[in-house]
Amino acid sequence: SVRTRFAPSPTGFVHIGSLRTALYNYLFARKNEGQYLLRIEDTDQTRYVEGAVEGMIQALSWAGVNHDEGAVFEGDHIVQKGEKGPYIQSERLNIYQNHIQQLLESGHAYHCFCSKERIEEVREVQKAKGLLPKYDGFCRGISLEEAKERAAKGEPHVIRLKLPTNRDIHFHDIVRGHVTVNTEDMDDQVLMKSDGFPTYHFAVVVDDHLMEITHVIRGEEWLPSTPKHVFTYEAFGWKAPQFVHLPNILNADKKKLSKRQGDVAVEDFIRKGYLPEGLVNYIALVGWSPEENKELFSMEELIEQFSLDRVSKSGGVFDTDKLNYINAHYIKESSDERITDLAIPHLIGAGYITEEEAKEKYAWLVDMVRVLKGYLSYVGEIVNKVDLFFKTEIEPEDSEAEELLKLEHVPQLVEIFKQKVIAAEAIDEAFGKQVFKEIQKETGIKGQNLFRPVRVVLTGSAHGPDMPLIIKVLGKQNILSRIEYVKE
Ligand code: GLU
Repeated sequence: SVRTRFAPSPTGFVHIGSLRTALYNYLFARKNEGQYLLRIEDTDQTRYVEGAVEGMIQALSWAGVNHDEGAVFEGDHIVQKGEKGPYIQSERLNIYQNHIQQLLESGHAYHCFCSKERIEEVREVQKAKGLLPKYDGFCRGISLEEAKERAAKGEPHVIRLKLPTNRDIHFHDIVRGHVTVNTEDMDDQVLMKSDGFPTYHFAVVVDDHLMEITHVIRGEEWLPSTPKHVFTYEAFGWKAPQFVHLPNILNADKKKLSKRQGDVAVEDFIRKGYLPEGLVNYIALVGWSPEENKELFSMEELIEQFSLDRVSKSGGVFDTDKLNYINAHYIKESSDERITDLAIPHLIGAGYITEEEAKEKYAWLVDMVRVLKGYLSYVGEIVNKVDLFFKTEIEPEDSEAEELLKLEHVPQLVEIFKQKVIAAEAIDEAFGKQVFKEIQKETGIKGQNLFRPVRVVLTGSAHGPDMPLIIKVLGKQNILSRIEYVKE
């Protein structure tokens, strides 16, 4: 059966492109009733970031990209779930040690005792000659016996892959088709580092094999490494998995999306108040096109529709407007309570309410969110829209609004509206509807002439959300003080 994996290195945040890689692995496995696993590739000790693994797992579970095997939370600590673990590479060091012995014995790998300085020199010389900078094979001739003795005496060394000379390595990529690379254009890759840790290139092959991965779906930056991996499979006598290299996600300038251009971390999008279904729906469409010509897909529908042959070869542009459009749709579809709960930390952060008030005025906040929900691309935007409900002095926001207040009938209209507010027992939506009917009956003012000046008095704007609900959310005191304010 199909087995896929997402194999992030914990670098401290989850790039939006990584989320897409994880998602495609997940969708493909689900679609084929296979398994999807999460493997943590933490063999580069110099890049260790505290808390990164936890953050990774949290971001993926926020997105609903749930793995069948791998590191998962149990309470507040991480445990391994599945038969093929451990799924954290730093806990698999003995496995790599055993496997490198196999390659040494079979002559597919060798000890290299060259110093960093020598390697640097070799590269410089090659670069100067206009050649591909690679290791010159200086240690290839050392016998395994001699190498073992030197290593046993503590001489620092790495272990390298011994590539055959002048041989074409072939593989098939499901998205890119046939790829051929000659070993002359490849380097004797370091497989084990001097600290006894494997490199990514070695660990990835050993683990994908032992974890019985059938499809390796990953970013296109790994395409150039794949021939080395393919040869390593061969050296072990193993069958290589199928490969799928995903196109990069690009910014508007068609360059690879990077941290410098703003939000690229899933954590940034969570913080801003994007919904998981919005982000997942959008990111699925960057680099994959559904058969059906539509844009809104639930996770279930994505699983249903996903196929690798509709993954594109060329990069997909990250389009914030489209993300916002899709996310706005899911915000509108969400319950007012869900959006309110997400909005509260933003409102507290911006100083509109305290934690206490968030509890006391919860029902009121829900009503306010109902008014504003249809205008949000992401929940955090709410802080730019709530002044309407928190400011005491409302000014007409533009000349259109100003003109409306200058209309001849406005003083009469405002006065009668005020009297009705004062007389009302409850300022609720029913009142908000009734009051305009009554005024129309009593004064003959109607339509735009009726609603719009009142809207400007209460909100400062000639356009906006539904009036009855605004009236309810504002309440008596606010309405009256706004009326007083424009009268002055
Ligand atoms: N650890 C690699 C990364 O961080 C994984 C590449 C792969 O999927 O093979 O991208």
